[in-house]
Amino acid sequence: MALRSWVVSANDRDCDFPLENLPYGVFRHDGRTRVGVAIGDRILDLRASAEHGLLCAVPCDALEGCGGQCVNGLMASGTRASSILRSRLASLLDERAAGEIKARVEPLLIPMNEAEMQLPAVIGDYTDFYASIHHATRMGRRFRPDNPLLPNYKYVPIGYHGRASSIVVSGKEIRRPCGQIKPQGASEPQFGPSRALDFELEVGLFVGSGNSLGQIIPITEAEQHIFGLCLVNDWSARDIQSWEYQPLGPFLGKDFATTLSPWVVPWEALAPYRVPVAPRPAGDPGPLPYLHSPSAERVGIDLTVEVHLETRSMREAGTAPALVSRANLRELYWSLAQLVAHHASNGCNLRPGDLLATGTVSGAEDGSEGCLLEMQRDGAGIQLPNGEVRAFLEDGDRVIFRAYCRRDGLPKIGFGECVGTIVGAQEL
Ligand code: CA
Repeated sequence: MALRSWVVSANDRDCDFPLENLPYGVFRHDGRTRVGVAIGDRILDLRASAEHGLLCAVPCDALEGCGGQCVNGLMASGTRASSILRSRLASLLDERAAGEIKARVEPLLIPMNEAEMQLPAVIGDYTDFYASIHHATRMGRRFRPDNPLLPNYKYVPIGYHGRASSIVVSGKEIRRPCGQIKPQGASEPQFGPSRALDFELEVGLFVGSGNSLGQIIPITEAEQHIFGLCLVNDWSARDIQSWEYQPLGPFLGKDFATTLSPWVVPWEALAPYRVPVAPRPAGDPGPLPYLHSPSAERVGIDLTVEVHLETRSMREAGTAPALVSRANLRELYWSLAQLVAHHASNGCNLRPGDLLATGTVSGAEDGSEGCLLEMQRDGAGIQLPNGEVRAFLEDGDRVIFRAYCRRDGLPKIGFGECVGTIVGAQEL
């Protein structure tokens, strides 16, 4: 049975932000930058809530976090403190709250359409994984049709260190990058704008409490280090990438920009949507003991993820963005807990606000590919409903990611949007 809020818009069946969600974000309004939670089409100002004495009994670490200009303080406060804060916020916004409480909270709500969202956290480090076997297989098949997966894939969660400085919040324009490109058949590379710009549909995980340098995170405790999730677009210039990636992996073909959705959905809010992950195919090795979850039945999340594409001419014609991909996070080969445990398995210290992304989330079926490169058939692009064809992104294209959990009898837990529009390369 869904809970009801006195913020009426939160009770709409299609609303991303019902009372059961309460995602954290950072917003700018009236010249001030604050931490807030989304409820319906409003944002509750957490600093003001604390100052007005509405967050009594919330542990001081979390209370201090509410007063900051990023969510890092709350992330660092640990699962217990953030859980207490969360239930306090839910009681303030619950339909059954006393009239006196509603009267005190209501002036602290800001209309979402009047706020400018910022990045939720100061991101110290960003790591991108490769956790979807369907993505890895389709990508590998392009290079090694008979043997698409490298021998390490089923043993080790593959990842690389991305760049934190070029992570931007949803809505910021993405400038087409320039780089070294070696066209097929050419003997030498040239420098110029990428002609193979792609998106990658990913889910990001924010680290809550960290681990000390040299200290591992056991798989059984890994989820306690996950603060919450958001959407990530790992923009990728395939032509720059394919020339530079050997032998050290992705570099300038990736780190010109990464877009993040502004709201961090708390890990706790996702509990009712936990499911078993897709079983490993027969004959696959089991995970090594440090990656083996004893309670394997609920390590996945039933989270639908979607890509919508809106070209400039669709926008000018007033046509709705076209759905080009729909996949589910439960199909990942490696669970989020495994990514955390693996990352810390060498003693690497994860810190509050660090971002770990899953890698492109793709399913096995056609229509569930999380990037354009996977959608191409014999080099041909996808056809959009208005007849336009896209092998890669063109200037003016807008890429919109959405994600949500939905189950009978439970509300929709939405992630909001992760949006980026491509603008032309800088003149050389
Ligand atoms: Ca990626």
